[in-house]
Amino acid sequence: GVEFPKPSQTRLIAVANQKGGVGKTTTTVNIAAALALAGARILVIDMDPQGNASTALGIEHGSGMPSVYDVLEGRATIAGIKQTCPDFPTLDVVPSSIDLSGAELEVADSPNRNGLLRDAVNTFLASSPDHYDYVFIDCPPSLGLLVINSMCAVNEMLIPIQAEYYALEGLGQLINTIGLIQKHYNPTLLVSTMLVTMFDRRTLLSREVYDEVKRHYPSIVLNTTIPRTVKISEAPSFSQSVIAYDRRCLGSTAYREAALEIAKRSPQALEAIAIKRGEH
Ligand code: ADP
Ligand code: MG
Repeated sequence: GVEFPKPSQTRLIAVANQKGGVGKTTTTVNIAAALALAGARILVIDMDPQGNASTALGIEHGSGMPSVYDVLEGRATIAGIKQTCPDFPTLDVVPSSIDLSGAELEVADSPNRNGLLRDAVNTFLASSPDHYDYVFIDCPPSLGLLVINSMCAVNEMLIPIQAEYYALEGLGQLINTIGLIQKHYNPTLLVSTMLVTMFDRRTLLSREVYDEVKRHYPSIVLNTTIPRTVKISEAPSFSQSVIAYDRRCLGSTAYREAALEIAKRSPQALEAIAIKRGEH
């Protein structure tokens, strides 16, 4: 097999884009599964009330069941409610639930409302008997409190970009929000990764979107693109990542290549991106 370097410290990565349907959840579960397949220990936190990442990883979830909602409200810990993905013994998941959609209002008065997830994650990582190589957070399609909590809890942002017309629309707003979070709450945050998803090699448009992202963010966008395939879209209906559903299909291969590129981003490479950040 291919050698995936392991990070010396836990890498915390939020997958965000305020647009819906661009491949956030698909990217979160499949990059996490690809890294778990390569032997890394992973925690996926599902921060979307829709719970699609929980579903796609075969994790039981639903209204009234223990979820990240209880963690944010201080009634549960990550250690107490995490579940292991049936397909990958080193992939743990903190499920979401539709109850999470109430959290924005319920914690609005808390002085620490932006740091609830960060504190829970830090407590978990400091006390866990297992060392985690990566924590991925699947964000909902908004720039609200749940996403701000996610941005405060990580060092890296992974932004999936769908290869379609208007792909870059809204990206400026997202980068501005990340800049505000850096300035006010989390100075170590950086946009480490962009990934072009649902790439259709038959269309000129897909190539044009990739080239434009590459021109604006040359050191951030991965060389690998994710093709639009039926297997990727049908895997969640079997409660599986595409990596578990069909390890050798085109979509799996692409996500495993993307995961390898992410794993190869050394602290030095990330530092270089951070220094260039001001230019973006
Ligand atoms: P988001 O989390 O940003 O809302 P999803 O990851 O849920 O986006 O993807 C939106 C829809 O597109 C889902 O139905 C998903 O299965 C499908 N999809 C995502 N990536 C691909 C792909 N590469 N090929 C085919 N379908 C995809
Ligand atoms: Mg999603």
